[in-house]
Amino acid sequence: MSTLNVQSSCGDENEQGTLTVQHALQNMLGAVAEKAGQEQIHLTDAIDRVLAKPIISPLNVPSHCNSAVDGYAIMQADLPSGESIKTLNIIGQVVAGHPFKGTLQQGECIQIMTGAQMPEQADTVIMQEHVEIEDNCIRLDARHSAGQNVRQAGEDIQTGQTVLQAGIKLTPPQVGLIASLGMAEISVKTPLTVAVFSTGDEVLSIGDSPREGCIYDSNRYSMIAALKKLGCNVLDMGIIADEPEKLRAAFTQAANSADVIFTSGGVSVGAADYTKQVLSELGSINFWKVAMKPGRPIAFGQIEDAIFFGLPGNPVAVMVTFYQFALPCLQKMMGLTQPLINPAVQAKCTHTIRKIAGRTEFQRGILSKGKNGEWQVGTTGQQGSGILRSMSDANAFIILEHERNSVQKDEWVTVQPFNGLF
Ligand code: AMP
Ligand code: MG
Repeated sequence: MSTLNVQSSCGDENEQGTLTVQHALQNMLGAVAEKAGQEQIHLTDAIDRVLAKPIISPLNVPSHCNSAVDGYAIMQADLPSGESIKTLNIIGQVVAGHPFKGTLQQGECIQIMTGAQMPEQADTVIMQEHVEIEDNCIRLDARHSAGQNVRQAGEDIQTGQTVLQAGIKLTPPQVGLIASLGMAEISVKTPLTVAVFSTGDEVLSIGDSPREGCIYDSNRYSMIAALKKLGCNVLDMGIIADEPEKLRAAFTQAANSADVIFTSGGVSVGAADYTKQVLSELGSINFWKVAMKPGRPIAFGQIEDAIFFGLPGNPVAVMVTFYQFALPCLQKMMGLTQPLINPAVQAKCTHTIRKIAGRTEFQRGILSKGKNGEWQVGTTGQQGSGILRSMSDANAFIILEHERNSVQKDEWVTVQPFNGLF
């Protein structure tokens, strides 16, 4: 088993064995490395995939000089000057996809459509709205300039130019850009395989009949949904009962088949289950108290070659720790160079929020534009870590920093908008 380079102590702890959010994240990021392989896929399957090799253009775009408008292709030597008017004979027509075969002489012009290849001798296009037509001739005045309305070959992209860097998640315009280079196959990173469990004897799967004292599992479904959005292959490992043998077998199976394992619940101090004990036996797992709310207890480490995240049990704590810790780690493992988390913005808080210094709080907020056009934010109401509504109603986290005390109305706070993942 490979060992983890994870430190479990740090200088900025306020309480014995407690890590700040920044330190916990730093530890986790230090322990994960890119895990994704590479595969060739057809461009039609490329959306949201992570590019494994840079895209280097095999051709010029556009490949030939062409007209940017419907009009008349002429030689710049035929442009009139001063007050004069020039009359040019129309000797033919050229449409997109059908290059002109003849030769243009001075004193002549060719009717040309948008996107049609420029006749070899022509270098300027006069918009059709800017000419008078009479007896198969055009009459033009002196308001035109040489070279106008022509898209030059290689104007957008030149042969050999790097148009996209490896490590980006492909967007629709980027797929179009690759298509414009005529490339049918591209090299992308293979998706991570991620196993997801829930723990706890009180937890039921959807579809199970309700039982007294039990709750329906939400954590597994919210995590699976987020992981699918990220493009991971998800192994739904169900709920494992609080029995050492079952936990051991399930974790071992997950470690053999997945790059990453997520569980929720069973990692808090005094949890009535065997999860912690079994994990300690199977892998190198750290059990951290993180100075944050929600989300204090977190287990992180490795079982065999799989990275293990033991998230808290409370549904909002799961979402917060997934967003704040798992997303940056998954980004690194996926070989993605762009952050999965949006940059934070400052917004005016619409009400007071009570807070004590010494931990980072992630309140769930609704970010909107205020009357004066500035960003404003308010919480979604009740902020208990078991109240998933507080999360599903939100469009952003309000991040109340470690050292911060209560927030007064109209104070500026840090807000992290969800980026479509949540
Ligand atoms: P634990 O850390 O296992 O003691 O769980 C903390 C709280 O989260 C308890 O109230 C659990 O019932 C709840 N919880 C644990 N797992 C889940 C789950 N998969 N879905 C919803 N709630 C859960
Ligand atoms: Mg439990």
